[in-house]
Amino acid sequence: MTIKVLGSESAGNCYLLESDAECLIIEAGIRLPELKKALNYDLSKVVGCLISHAHGDHCKYAMDYLKAGINIFASKETIEEAGLTGHRVFRFFENIFPLGSFNIKCFPVPHSVPTVGFLIHHPFAGSIFFATDAAYIPNRFIELNHILIEANYDDTMLTSDRAVGRHMSIDTCLGFLRANERRHIRNIVLLHLSNRNSDAEMFAKSVQTVAPNASVWIADKGLEIYLSKYPF
Ligand SMILES: [Zn+2]
Repeated sequence: MTIKVLGSESAGNCYLLESDAECLIIEAGIRLPELKKALNYDLSKVVGCLISHAHGDHCKYAMDYLKAGINIFASKETIEEAGLTGHRVFRFFENIFPLGSFNIKCFPVPHSVPTVGFLIHHPFAGSIFFATDAAYIPNRFIELNHILIEANYDDTMLTSDRAVGRHMSIDTCLGFLRANERRHIRNIVLLHLSNRNSDAEMFAKSVQTVAPNASVWIADKGLEIYLSKYPF
């Protein structure tokens, strides 16, 4: 299983969780031709696309994905706000739901519009936590293997307060990591760094201090990471 970052910024967000047989797309913020290219023009292995919320950089191209035959999964609020229609649009389920070999659970996170994070379990990759565009994470988790989490800004570098209360600061991200069980974490991927108010190297260093056994990555476009729950 690999995670591929096709975009992790306000210009457009999209991530692929991909095995030989299946691909789960998270967010629909990059153009369809770019998505198709990343999938070698083979959409047959796509089990669905999860969308966290209705902001354009996360769902702008959802209708194009639908027209290409991709099933979209989002909250009722996101579906309404983004005007998604058709037989391939599905509301998130309250409980854990399967998409291919992936089992998915949604949880709400605080942002400026209704937004969810995802806990995704896969038999080979293990437990994958995903949350972006969240001021903080209200829940606690155990036995996470891979954490994909926003680290948008540093308070000391903030030049405007637009991000406060909507996006996650590096301090809040570190607080989340400290509050959760860390011994099973293999990878931490920092998402959606602000261009102006972040310092990737410093963010990665401080996360490494909190989770010394994990590999820490910055979600630059084009990043690919092998995900396994096994330590080899
Ligand atoms: Zn947003």
